[in-house]
This record gives sequence, C-alpha cells and structure tokens, in this order.
Amino acid sequence: MHVTFCGVRGSTPSPGPDFARYGGNTSCVAVGHSSSSRPVLLLDAGTGLSKVTPLLGGQAFAGTIALTHLHWDHSLGLPFFRGGDDPDARVSLLLPDQQDGSDAESLLARVMTPPFFPIEPGQLRGEWTFGTLSPPRGGAAEFKAEGFGVEAREIPHKGGRTFGYRVSDGHRVLAYVTDHCPTALGPGPDGLGAYHEAALALAEGADVLIHDAQIVAEEIAAEAYFGHAAAEYAVALAARAGARHVVLFHHKPSRTDSELDAIAARFASSAIPVTVAAEGLTLDLLPSPPATRTSARLLLLARQMPSSATPAPRPATPARAPRLLLLSVGCHLRSKPSKG
Ligand SMILES: [Zn+2]
Ligand SMILES: [Zn+2]
Repeated sequence: MHVTFCGVRGSTPSPGPDFARYGGNTSCVAVGHSSSSRPVLLLDAGTGLSKVTPLLGGQAFAGTIALTHLHWDHSLGLPFFRGGDDPDARVSLLLPDQQDGSDAESLLARVMTPPFFPIEPGQLRGEWTFGTLSPPRGGAAEFKAEGFGVEAREIPHKGGRTFGYRVSDGHRVLAYVTDHCPTALGPGPDGLGAYHEAALALAEGADVLIHDAQIVAEEIAAEAYFGHAAAEYAVALAARAGARHVVLFHHKPSRTDSELDAIAARFASSAIPVTVAAEGLTLDLLPSPPATRTSARLLLLARQMPSSATPAPRPATPARAPRLLLLSVGCHLRSKPSKG
C-alpha cells in the first residue's frame, strides 16, 4: 500500500511562509497499491485534492473518493480536481448518509451549486457516481473499493455525521480517523476523551493510524468544543489499540511550522513512532516477506518528498532524491519532517 499526504491541514487552508514545510492544503490522503501505480482511493477531498492530479501521470482519475464527512475542508477540493473533472475520468464518490432522506448528490449540491459555485456535482466531466454509506449503529459498513477492503464506522465530531475509515490491502492496514471529538463522549480515563468502541475498532492493530491532532492536551478545555482531538489522545489510542505508527493529522490552520516541530519533539521518545503529517509525505506499507511475517519487525518505508507549491508529477527517478527512512517497530526509529 502506498499512501501520499496531499493535504494535512484542518478547517481552512493556511497559505504563507510560516506553513510552507508542513503545507497549507486541507485534508486529502491518496492511497494506491504500490509506489509504481497511480492512487485509486482518495480519503477526503479538501483543497489537497488538487495535489492528486500530478500523481496520475497525465491520466484521468479512475477510482473512489471516500469522504469522512461534508465539512468544507473535506469537500471543497472536488470541483478543482482536474484529474477527476475530465471526460475520461471514472469516479465513485462515497459519503456518509446524513439520515435526512437526502441522496449523496443532493447533499453535495447544497455546497456546490449556484450562486455559491458555478456548477453542480452532476456537471463534473467524466463518469461520476454518488453514493452514501450507512453503517449500522455501533457497527461497520464494509465494502470493496479499487481492490481494497474498507470499513466505515461513525465517530463523534460536530455538525453532521462523520466516519473513520479502515483500509486493508490484505497485508497492511491503514486507519484514517480525522475530525474526531472523543471528549464528546466524556473525559475518558486520562481527560483526553473516551477510548470508545468505534475508535478502538478502527485503530485495532493498524500498521498506521492517521488521526486528528488539531489540538494538544492543554488546549482541550478551550477548544475541544470545535469537535477535535488532542495529539496526545491519538498516541494513547494507538497504544490501547495496538497500532504501530501514528501520523498526527488535520493541523490547526494557525499552527506554524515551528509549532508543529515542537509537537513532533513532544513525541520524540514515544514508544510508538509518531510522525507529524506534512504535505508530500509518502508511506510505503510493504507486505512482510513470509520469513519475517511472524516476527515483531515491521518494515515501513517513509519517504519525505520535497514540498513545493505545485509538486511535480511523481517521476520514476526523482530529480531530487527523497529522504528514505526505514522505520522498524522493533528498533524504534522515527521519521521526521523534512527541513527542506
Ligand atoms: Zn476537518
Ligand atoms: Zn469536520
């Protein structure tokens, strides 16, 4: 499984030099089967969705977009997705059923329609289909998408039904739990929020847990009201659920690069490797060789691609060699965001 972080910011984009290294685009994570194939499953469609087009090698997008929820920072990239707004595109868009009788296309059209925007979802070029997901209360909606097995579970957030996703390629598991407000279910045992069944099920044994880290522990009292989790909760959830690597995601729009460096430093000695998500970061979740499948060693390649305002298409041989970091759970090596 190959994972590319195309937008890592929450709430609203953060342009400017103070945000250049971690990136200012809102939530979008692209998933493919390998580093040599194009992404086929996109998690959320914030402004980072525009960064998927250069990964398509000049081809139209053919795949699935699964939205965790419909907030602007997860959906407003859709009409600017050139690889999807293409006569040759084939896009299956899935979003949470809001349980108000609206179909998926009508829900999207509430935010994407004149006079707020020039076109409606149905006017996107290519073959677009729109569908809702509706897991049973306390359970999971399970489906196949582009060769991946996907589970959707409802998690507490604020203002609309919200899902976390668990994606498996049969070898590795990626959990994507952004926009998650565990304090909505109580303070939990440590004041960071409840370690509730859906969060634990999504993260259970995951090779990588991408999790909401919009705030930090000391901001909970003043800011959890906005519907987000503290970075400390993400790491503690991973420990409880047996996840092997945490990627802190959905950064507060005002959080500067140096402040995110400080958050990375806060977790430098964590027992579970912690990475602060940066736009352009890629992760290769490699199937274990059979001989090592039962050992504790999990090899995971984290590659920090150079960040730029308009990333170049992913070349077979990058013009500038990416930093390659070998992460091994057994050795506790960690990746750090590029300083470049
Ligand atoms: Zn958000
Ligand atoms: Zn949200």
